[in-house]
Amino acid sequence: MEDAPLRILLIEDNRLDTLLIKEMLEGTDCEVTNAARLSAGLGLLETRHFDLILLDLGLPDSWGLEGLEKIQNSGSNVPVVVLTGLSDEALASRSLAMGAQDYVLKGHTDSELLYRTIRYSIERKKSRQQLEESEERFRRAIMDSVFPVMIHAEDGEVIQINRIWTQLTGYAIEDIPAVSVWLEKASAAAPDTRIGQGEHVIRTKSGDSRTWEFSSVPLGSLHDGRKLIMSMAADITERKRMEEIIKHQASHDTLTGLPNRALFMDRLSQEISERRRNGKKLAVIFLDLDRFKNINDTLGHDAGDRLLVEVGGRLKTCIRESDTVARIGGDEFNILLAGIAHSGDAARVARKIISSFQNPFQIKEHELNITTSIGISICPDDSGEMDVLLKYADIAMYYAKESGKNAFRFYDPLINKRTLERIKLENRLRQTLEKGELVLHYQPQIDAKTGEITCAESLVRWQHPEMGLLDPARFIPLAEETGLILDIGEWVLRTACAQNKAWQNAGLPRICVSINLSERQFHQPDFPKLVSRVLEETGLDPGWLDIEITETTAMRDTSFSIPSLAKLAGLGIKFSLDDFGTGYSSLEYLKRLPIQKIKIDKSFIEGIMDDPDDMAIVSAVISIAHNLRKKAVAEGVETGGQFEALKASGCDEIQGFFFSRPLPAGSFERLLTSQA
Ligand code: C2E
Ligand code: MG
Ligand code: MG
Repeated sequence: MEDAPLRILLIEDNRLDTLLIKEMLEGTDCEVTNAARLSAGLGLLETRHFDLILLDLGLPDSWGLEGLEKIQNSGSNVPVVVLTGLSDEALASRSLAMGAQDYVLKGHTDSELLYRTIRYSIERKKSRQQLEESEERFRRAIMDSVFPVMIHAEDGEVIQINRIWTQLTGYAIEDIPAVSVWLEKASAAAPDTRIGQGEHVIRTKSGDSRTWEFSSVPLGSLHDGRKLIMSMAADITERKRMEEIIKHQASHDTLTGLPNRALFMDRLSQEISERRRNGKKLAVIFLDLDRFKNINDTLGHDAGDRLLVEVGGRLKTCIRESDTVARIGGDEFNILLAGIAHSGDAARVARKIISSFQNPFQIKEHELNITTSIGISICPDDSGEMDVLLKYADIAMYYAKESGKNAFRFYDPLINKRTLERIKLENRLRQTLEKGELVLHYQPQIDAKTGEITCAESLVRWQHPEMGLLDPARFIPLAEETGLILDIGEWVLRTACAQNKAWQNAGLPRICVSINLSERQFHQPDFPKLVSRVLEETGLDPGWLDIEITETTAMRDTSFSIPSLAKLAGLGIKFSLDDFGTGYSSLEYLKRLPIQKIKIDKSFIEGIMDDPDDMAIVSAVISIAHNLRKKAVAEGVETGGQFEALKASGCDEIQGFFFSRPLPAGSFERLLTSQA
């Protein structure tokens, strides 16, 4: 750069001054071109490159600062040094304000000073230009940034916001009071340094709220010493929303939208530690729908799912906003009642739930009458530990079920042992079939007139390795609840048919074998198929099989039971209506059921010798049976007196201890042999 000459344009009409300046610059690297008029100077500027202009303020075609203005307006970027006489110093300093780099007082300069002024002016102009360019780049970067950017002083005064900021918020820099509200929030991210990162909810001018994530960095100081901060923001509203959704999904049951087990445990553990501070109690409620499996089996999973959703909704209406209902799986719900004064508060909620279930649930075209069994444990009375509270509520629920369902029970250490046994029994029951622990006993039905055996009722027993021979009452309800009754029932059917066939093959007198059908089995869609398959496999003629169905099962839903029984009857099988008198039969339906026998429940037979009403009922049932062309069978006949009385009333068949207890197959076979 030292090598190239500095090209100076000297706009000066005074020849003496021109000579003087040229002389002063002689021997330097300056190369001076002279224009005697402004117009000539402007012309030269258009065609040639100059490094500096020396401009006289008194020219023939321009006076004063007008010359400077004209040069600037011409678009020239060449630095200007003004030449002026001593009397015009005020004018000269105004020229500086207008953008001249410096001024030189004619006659008060020398070669060295002039040269320095020239060089210095050129350098200063250059560095100012560079600064302006870099500032412009920075301003553009901020203004065009796709992220909202705000520059503010440490005390909160907003200096600048960019375009996207205004676009996203609706606020312009003029709305400073509103903007400063965010600023405080943004600064609050790091109150000491006011620098750092943080999330803030921003309210836009139109009232929306958005979440912005800020990062703030220091940006030097203002001229008054206040620190400057630049805060950049990213709108993370959508990301936050997705995070919320994912968090919700992880902690809620997708079917009902209720909190799931994990969230329930979370809240429970929170409330337990909260309780230590406020000294109140809390209740854990364990709730299970009664016979929900029946609904799933008979109406399908869709209906079952809808029912669960409805139940969830109904449960919510029974508790306070601050309590939690969670679905923890299947048809099981947990409820957390926090901050209760005593256990009576939990009982009140349980009662409210049970009575809210009294209105049927409308699921598609079905009106479902559902009940629920509820167990309750209280913290800290029963335990202060989460897992124990849950276990106790579960045990109490089992107890509620055991004591007839549609009820609630508090945990009670005394019931604990019994219920645990029951749970153990349930687990054992699952293995009975594999282990071959079930046996059938057979009880004869006798023709009242001839005294001959007409039928053998199969009655299942469980040969329990530790508890001995268990009656069906000990395990059939459990098997029904758990669904195990389906496998057990199939085993009973197959074993009874095979046994009867074996007796026939052995040449013994031909009799019927009857089995007891549980409601769930009856509702299995492929039950008729199962029966015909078993008959085929065992080779028993359908006419020798009798299926006992209880009055309650047959009458619960006659639109289902009448066609189903008719279908089975088509196979040639016989039917008996079991436990007659314990349910509610309509005579109309009784007539339409394809049954051959009515078995009068033993609770009536028991009283016939002492209670004339019982005898009257039994006689009436016998004559109804006969009128409907069905046979009457008396169950539970224990004495000769009962037998005689029944025989006298025209009862067709007799079953009971008077004649024989239910017997193992071998003993029954001997009984049958003695008849032959
Ligand atoms: P159920 O079908 O009414 O069977 C008659 C019950 O009365 C039998 O009880 C029988 O032992 C009892 N019994 C018979 N004669 C007399 C008597 O003179 N006096 C007294 N007090 N009782 C008598 P068990 O064997 O305990 O069976 C009870 C119930 O269990 C049965 O009642 C039946 O509903 C059910 N059950 C039995 N086996 C099966 C089975 O394989 N499947 C299903 N689903 N249920 C069964
Ligand atoms: Mg029976
Ligand atoms: Mg019976």
